[in-house]
Amino acid sequence: MILFQPKRVIFENAALEYKTGKKIMEYFKHKDVELLFSKSGRITQIPGNTASEMYFESKNTLVVGIRKSYEFQSCKPSAHYQLPLVSGCMGMCEYCYLNTRMGKKPYTKVYVNIDEILNRADKYIEEKLPGITVFEGAATSDPIPVEPYTGNLSKCIIHFGKSKNGYFKFVTKFTDVDNLLSLNHNGKTTVRFSINTDKIISEFEHGTPKLKDRINAAVKVIDAGYNVGFIIAPVFLNPNWETEYRDIIDKIGNNFSDSPITFEIISHRFTKKAKENILTVYPKTMLPMEEEIRKFKYGQFGYGKYVYKDDELNYMKEFFKENIEKYFDKSSIKYII
Ligand code: SF4
Repeated sequence: MILFQPKRVIFENAALEYKTGKKIMEYFKHKDVELLFSKSGRITQIPGNTASEMYFESKNTLVVGIRKSYEFQSCKPSAHYQLPLVSGCMGMCEYCYLNTRMGKKPYTKVYVNIDEILNRADKYIEEKLPGITVFEGAATSDPIPVEPYTGNLSKCIIHFGKSKNGYFKFVTKFTDVDNLLSLNHNGKTTVRFSINTDKIISEFEHGTPKLKDRINAAVKVIDAGYNVGFIIAPVFLNPNWETEYRDIIDKIGNNFSDSPITFEIISHRFTKKAKENILTVYPKTMLPMEEEIRKFKYGQFGYGKYVYKDDELNYMKEFFKENIEKYFDKSSIKYII
């Protein structure tokens, strides 16, 4: 079990007016951590002189705050809206998109005004009636490591379990799922586990659980009646990749072939900006990021990214299709990109 144990916790003053904020303060007040406060909500107390120091200090920092904006970002195509529960993550995956998105200080911030956030979600649901509305709880974070502190995920699962037209999903690499198993989810929550080969996990996904443990957690979650999916990402076409990824699919096939699980497969890609950021924090990274051997592709958000070449991608798609369909129905594959 990996529980986020920060070196410092910074409380926005406003967060201490909420029950969850008070509960988190009660918990940390007796622990060996630095407790700091921010009246304005600006986070200026994280030390570090270099980009690398700031990164690692931030990864050891928990901010307890409130979500000020109740406008939710859209989250296409996987859901209608991002549900803001947490931003940032204690994991230190070298390729993580948060490294680019969160600036030089990617600290983890939990929002304690969960009741207001869920009220706002209900308004979004009403606006879409009689259709359904799907919320993604992990668009800017991995929500599991901070769950023991906030209980936000459990509240969401129970809330959407009671909602007629609202659905909830989140993705995680973490395995501390026991407290979610007995919740009344009513089939309205989908838990996706992000997985990769053992080699990729130990090389690039620092501070995250092993593949075997993620699969065991998925077994527990599916036994508890949740909808479960696997995101295999990022797929690296390194030497021997077929054997390693086939091994993962065989493991999933052996454990889950009787269950209606889904697959999302995403090949590795990077932007110029991400590469620069990664190299400042991990100057010796072994991530394959040679522009010359990739194809440059303009993305939907106006910036370009480097993806694998068409023939490599087509081969990869065929490979995953063929291997997944040995165990599962065609419709279990949501996309391979
Ligand atoms: S676990 Fe997910 S969110 Fe956390 S650092 Fe790794 S890729 Fe990023």
